[in-house]
Amino acid sequence: MFEGLSDRLSGILSGLTRRGALTEADVTAAMREVRRALLEADVALEVVRGFTDAVRDKAVGAVVLKSVTPGQMVVKIVNDELVAMLGTEAGIIDLNAPAPVPILMVGLQGSGKTTTTAKIARRLSEREKRKVLLASLDTRRPAAMEQLAVLAKQVGVESLPIVAGQSAVQIARRAMDAARLGGFDVVMLDTAGRTTVDEALMTEAAEVKAATRPHEVLLVADALTGQDAVNTARAFDQRLGVTGIVLTRMDGDSRGGAALSMRAVTGKPIKLVGTGEKVDALEEFHPARVANRILG
Ligand code: GDP
Repeated sequence: MFEGLSDRLSGILSGLTRRGALTEADVTAAMREVRRALLEADVALEVVRGFTDAVRDKAVGAVVLKSVTPGQMVVKIVNDELVAMLGTEAGIIDLNAPAPVPILMVGLQGSGKTTTTAKIARRLSEREKRKVLLASLDTRRPAAMEQLAVLAKQVGVESLPIVAGQSAVQIARRAMDAARLGGFDVVMLDTAGRTTVDEALMTEAAEVKAATRPHEVLLVADALTGQDAVNTARAFDQRLGVTGIVLTRMDGDSRGGAALSMRAVTGKPIKLVGTGEKVDALEEFHPARVANRILG
């Protein structure tokens, strides 16, 4: 993750720390390079501009330039601004509501939504000892329903029995009823994916949301799609009110543009990241640790 960007930024910043005394022009030149590196990493232009302006404004102050180690102070400012850009708090899934707590999973087909649903279920079940029920609402793709049932078995949680002919809302209601009767703590509703953000998809998900009042609406997006992932998140958020984002395929993402832009563009926190195909390949997203990783 972030290898490309990390190498570039480390190179630029170590150039500053090696130099000793710094002028305003040195900082401005370095920020131009940082700007180029972030754009090459596919970070959104508005985010890059805000970031480099903030760093430059703080770094060209007399206190920094006249300090004994101005380069290191600039590095610290870059670090702090990176953390601010990523969102300061660690994103955890909020289950603080009466059981069964509904969680709505939304996203485009192929983003890793079903796999991520199972990964989160496993985490809630194993680490937090919650009794989790999974339900697939993908009425048009029987294979997707089967896939969720198989994954549920694999991670040791229950899935709602498949009944043909029901609508997504009917399945969601049945899941909530079953969870109440069965004493479940959490119900994860895996909505149907589509290849593009379309009206039918949004309407159906909005109906499920109205019927179940989910405590979390988690948008699953593929980090490898860069700015498309950010635009997808914005579209889903405008329509469905997303509470958090799970970025998948971070294991293959050396650029990091989606991760770095997501919070600043959508205002929504990245809560978790997928780091592989296996059901245990899920990590919490800690902005401070990510900033450290990027700055090496
Ligand atoms: P859905 O259509 O959004 O439900 O997508 P799936 O959950 O079926 O995932 C599509 C493919 O992406 C599967 O082959 C998954 O194993 C894979 N996948 C999901 N998350 C990750 C991840 O974090 N890293 C990698 N490398 N592959 C992933």
